[in-house]
Amino acid sequence: MSKRTLTGLALLLLIIIHATFVAQQPARKTPGPKADAASTKTRAEEVVAATGEILEEVSKLRRLKPLTPVKSGTKSRAEIEQEIIRGFEETTTPEEIEAANKALIAYGLAPKDFRYREFMIKLMTEQVAGFYRPKSKELFIADWNDLEQQKPVMVHELQHALQDQHFNLRRFEKWPNGDSDREAAIHALIEGDATALMYAHQLKGMGMDISKLPPISSFSDQSLAQAERDKQAVFLAAPASLRESLIFPYVYGATFVQEMLKKRGWDGVSQAFTDLPQSTEQILHFDKYAAKEVPIKVELPDISKLLGADWKRIDADVNGEFGYFLILSEFIGKKEARTATAGWGGDQSTLYENAKTGQLLLAHLSQWDTAKDAAEFFRAYAERTRKRYPQARTATKTDTECAFQTPDGESVIQLREQSVLVIEGFPANQSAEWTKLSDALWKK
Ligand SMILES: [Zn+2]
Repeated sequence: MSKRTLTGLALLLLIIIHATFVAQQPARKTPGPKADAASTKTRAEEVVAATGEILEEVSKLRRLKPLTPVKSGTKSRAEIEQEIIRGFEETTTPEEIEAANKALIAYGLAPKDFRYREFMIKLMTEQVAGFYRPKSKELFIADWNDLEQQKPVMVHELQHALQDQHFNLRRFEKWPNGDSDREAAIHALIEGDATALMYAHQLKGMGMDISKLPPISSFSDQSLAQAERDKQAVFLAAPASLRESLIFPYVYGATFVQEMLKKRGWDGVSQAFTDLPQSTEQILHFDKYAAKEVPIKVELPDISKLLGADWKRIDADVNGEFGYFLILSEFIGKKEARTATAGWGGDQSTLYENAKTGQLLLAHLSQWDTAKDAAEFFRAYAERTRKRYPQARTATKTDTECAFQTPDGESVIQLREQSVLVIEGFPANQSAEWTKLSDALWKK
């Protein structure tokens, strides 16, 4: 089973390398034609020389004492690419990558010929400005950063070093598969802490307080404009869901930390490494974290036998509020998608593949806080399906069931009290049988 692309896999490497995402930062220069050996060496020396002093500043601001010195250095783009490839190899199997790739395609979030692994390596190599490696306790700064950018990146990475010393980041490297939503929430805490601290450090020089700023997430649309100014070609070419997944832990994580700062200060942020956030819902809505509103565990039965001999379940994971937001907002408005996914209670999303035909089938069941929340999501999902397949024929349309015949097979969306079941990609020639699937999934 795999870590999911939507919120999990896109961030997977970040667990390992805790990279600083740069789109939110001031000026980012594309690498110069070639940094000659002398200037690269100078940059590396600068980083090493500045480490102790910046660590002290970070430690004071964040109220965490350094327990050991931190090793630091710089890396070239080619070295960073190697690091990213190694991260992929250490943390995922080819089957997991394949399943994540297929889930993106099945949800219509990436083109049918999308190559997830290759694309993510290119994207990460373009975006990384620095990283901290918990395994060797070292931080590296990209050698193409300009001086202006170098310091904030170091602040961010040094905060990861302090997190590791106090809260042990290695415990998050290997995570049981099947709950990417929880994993994404924890990444958001890790990245949000380091990002908020980076801003706090910059603002302090101006006599400003990060907890008094508007939410960092209210600036999130600027990342696209920034990418355009900086000509970040891979980021601009990325499917929207991957772009949003990539910035999620930084932007929404930092907003979560801002909320925490208002209520409980930096000590509250530290305490969150013990009382970990459980879902992207808790990251998006601080009050749900504070109220300890835990997700409902949903487990769908394996229906591959009902589908036939060549079918196999290749993935089971949790979409979460943020994953469903991405799934909806790919085809309907962001505002509408945000409203429809609020009130998420829990879900499981499963992916099946026909080994002979390559056909993909999705079955996902979500639980909502109230019947009204479920009905909202049901209507939004039906709308999304109509927008995704404008040519689809509507087979059923009632207040509790919508069915469409699409070029990818039959799609059925059912509403029952506080739950919504969706089956997508059911082979058209077996339409009469899909009721058996939905009965099994509803556990009738
Ligand atoms: Zn980071």
